[in-house]
Amino acid sequence: MGSFGVKESRKAFEGLGGSSPDKLFGGLPTPCYILDEAMLRRNGEILAGVAKRTGCRILLAQKAFSNYDLYPVISPYLDGTEASGLYESRLGAEEMPEKEVHVFCAAYREEEFDELLRYADHIVFNSPSQLDRFGFRAKKAGKSIGLRINPECSTQEGHAIYDPCAPGSRLGTTRAQWDEKMTLELTELLDGLHFHTLCEQDSDALETTLKAVAERFGDILPRMKWLNFGGGHHITRPGYDIVRLERCIRSAQERWNLRVYLEPGEACALYAGYLAAHVLDVLQNGETQIAVLNTSAACHMPDVLEMPYRPPLYGAKEPGELPFTVRLCGSTCLAGDVIGDYSFDRPLREGDLLLFGDMAIYTMCKNNTFNGMPLPEIFVFDNNRKLHCLRKFEYMDFKQRLGRLL
Ligand SMILES: *Cc1c(COP(=O)(O)O)cnc(C)c1O
Repeated sequence: MGSFGVKESRKAFEGLGGSSPDKLFGGLPTPCYILDEAMLRRNGEILAGVAKRTGCRILLAQKAFSNYDLYPVISPYLDGTEASGLYESRLGAEEMPEKEVHVFCAAYREEEFDELLRYADHIVFNSPSQLDRFGFRAKKAGKSIGLRINPECSTQEGHAIYDPCAPGSRLGTTRAQWDEKMTLELTELLDGLHFHTLCEQDSDALETTLKAVAERFGDILPRMKWLNFGGGHHITRPGYDIVRLERCIRSAQERWNLRVYLEPGEACALYAGYLAAHVLDVLQNGETQIAVLNTSAACHMPDVLEMPYRPPLYGAKEPGELPFTVRLCGSTCLAGDVIGDYSFDRPLREGDLLLFGDMAIYTMCKNNTFNGMPLPEIFVFDNNRKLHCLRKFEYMDFKQRLGRLL
């Protein structure tokens, strides 16, 4: 992880079908996101194949991708949506109706719970105390009830903020917490268990995690109807070991006689979007050549700073690989609003169009108007390679969130 190699970079622009960004998107106002319908379908086909061959069910984790106008494109391949709380549950129920709505939240609130019961089919609790507080009501409303477990098995390095198994984690119930707090009455409420411990990982990490799950919760699982493997499975990434994933799913289903759910976010919309931006200024500070863009890592691709990672960029390579290395920066006041260093075969100039790849996931659902930065418009590149504007933002979108509406 960290930066994108050449192979990933190629995959990230496969949806362009060999045409140049200037030719396809040259006329668009920037910054703008472009959602690629064909790539969403391609991801959907891979996921649906896993579900069909194993009998598991796969949900879209909406926190990664919640552009509901595209739900009709991916829903035929999926069994439903996964939500992080009330609003995403409602969005799933409204925009992917007829399919399952699952929700997990670290802590539900009293004032939202009755409304949540209107939207969610599966409700997953984080702790025995939350289960005790809300579980009986949810059961009475006919919901399928789950508890998130913490198998205490860290399989990733370098992304501590994405490791729910780190010591002291609030996410999921450890076996020690279970033994201390789970009464027979609470245990009988449960239809399933849920774990979510992976982040952009392959199925070898899942296999390791399942061993820990079996070791710690193997005595409970035969009483469950389902086991949710969470997200973080990078199933649609080239080279992902799908055969091993399917082996993991089948063996869990057979061993414990239950149904497996997966709820990937990234894998549903991987490589299915772009962010187009223009160069506003080019400057030099000592050895460093800098281009200031009309977009921002902080506002429009926050995971570039949070994760952090360097997004794929059309036509560019690693720093130093091509003759002209440039640091691409956002136009906010944040000194660290840096997208990354890239090399090009010619110097960048004011007015150049740049196209970042893999910009469907964790972008639009996380973007913000820090510094009063405009929100990028959203376009769809449809199956006939035609562009449609989904949403245009303006000054009022910035203003209305911050105070009194006149
Ligand atoms: C984040 C999250 C997901 C989706 O993770 P991806 O890395 O986007 O696949 C699924 N389930 C839960 C509980 C999550 O917190």
